[in-house]
Amino acid sequence: MNRTASQALFERAQHFIPGGVNSPVRAFRAVGGSPVFIKSAKGAYVYDEDGNEYIELINSWGPMILGHGHELIHEAVAEAAQHSFSFGAPTRREVEVAELIVSMVPSVEKVRMVNSGTEATMSAIRVARGFTGRDKIIKFEGCYHGHGDSFLIAAGSGAATFGQPDSPGVTRGVANDTLTAPYNDLEAVRQLVDANKNHIAALILEPVVGNMGCVLPEPGFLQGLRKLCDEEGIVLIFDEVMTGFRLARGGAQERFGITPDMTTMGKIIGGGMPVGAYGGKAEIMNWVSPAGPVYQAGTLSGNPIAMAAGQAMLQYLNAHPEVYSQLETAGSKLAAGFNKSLQKLGLDYTVNQIGSMYTLFFTNQTVKDFPSAKTSDLVLFGKYFHAMLNRGIYLGPSQFESMFLSTALTDKHLDLIIAANEDALSEVLS
Ligand code: PLP
Repeated sequence: MNRTASQALFERAQHFIPGGVNSPVRAFRAVGGSPVFIKSAKGAYVYDEDGNEYIELINSWGPMILGHGHELIHEAVAEAAQHSFSFGAPTRREVEVAELIVSMVPSVEKVRMVNSGTEATMSAIRVARGFTGRDKIIKFEGCYHGHGDSFLIAAGSGAATFGQPDSPGVTRGVANDTLTAPYNDLEAVRQLVDANKNHIAALILEPVVGNMGCVLPEPGFLQGLRKLCDEEGIVLIFDEVMTGFRLARGGAQERFGITPDMTTMGKIIGGGMPVGAYGGKAEIMNWVSPAGPVYQAGTLSGNPIAMAAGQAMLQYLNAHPEVYSQLETAGSKLAAGFNKSLQKLGLDYTVNQIGSMYTLFFTNQTVKDFPSAKTSDLVLFGKYFHAMLNRGIYLGPSQFESMFLSTALTDKHLDLIIAANEDALSEVLS
């Protein structure tokens, strides 16, 4: 496959953009080689600057659940653009979008729109801290909640260890207020809570993790966290930036029947435009300025073009429950196809899948937390990634990512992906 135009652009980009990209994972550092520069996309396909075509399994890291260039979203954006691009004043559409979100997401009684998932999580913990009058938060090792300082914290050597900054520039003071526990380890969370009685404002997690690869909550884990938070007056925050509107109309909380106190959203909510949101119980959200004392604002928040795209997306999902049954079928078909190939090739790698999210881990261990995800053979994954790319399948360029399916994938696409996967595995293992 000729990718000389992409390579030339990457060369050029590195002179003017740190690392040549505007978000680190795009640089392909985890898999080696030079990133593909995308020129356009339609339906299940993306096209690069050299004219190569790929079946898409990233879908902009989640937002494009209906595939690329969906007609209704396109029309909504084109119509909104006729009325100018930003007002910095309230609009009818923001009210309609808020009503729609409240009707779709079980935990959300009031919602505030922001411009990214990062803004949503940063704001949510500020509100939780204001509401509880407490400083500390608990997050899980391997969960990603955007690049807010409080979330860029690596786990210490034990669950009770204070966090260490994961990135220069995050102060020790901030890190000290973030406690980390292993995912799916309820007992470790209990110990952290006991050791920090009445100091924990919020517990934030991805109810299904996408950011250490796809990792599912074990039975009882989410229920246990809900119970613990209720007993201890801790605000339970589900970060549904990835899972929201994807694992069900009302996200993972609908799917698992656990209602958090607050929810953070992003990705699908903007239909591909930069949108995030946080919401929750009215008694908590009433702490947000100007209703309450916790300050949070944004010049472009509720941007009319972004709201038009988000509204068209959410209205469609709300009115078409068959989207979710289609994605369930597609996800199960892929996982079954992959498992069949693994068996045929005599490999005992792990496929984690739920609905339209999946990861093929290059490890024979059950992947239930970050340490088990890290037993994967990353060198082999890098080779597999490129073998798939060369077969016209565009995956997330890291072992620690979930793939995201869209409704644009037909049975024919899924068969092609399954065949390419078997072929790529045979190539990298030979
Ligand atoms: N939370 C989760 C679960 C995410 O997956 C991400 C991004 O991937 C974020 C928050 C941050 O969102 P954004 O990249 O829009 O800032």
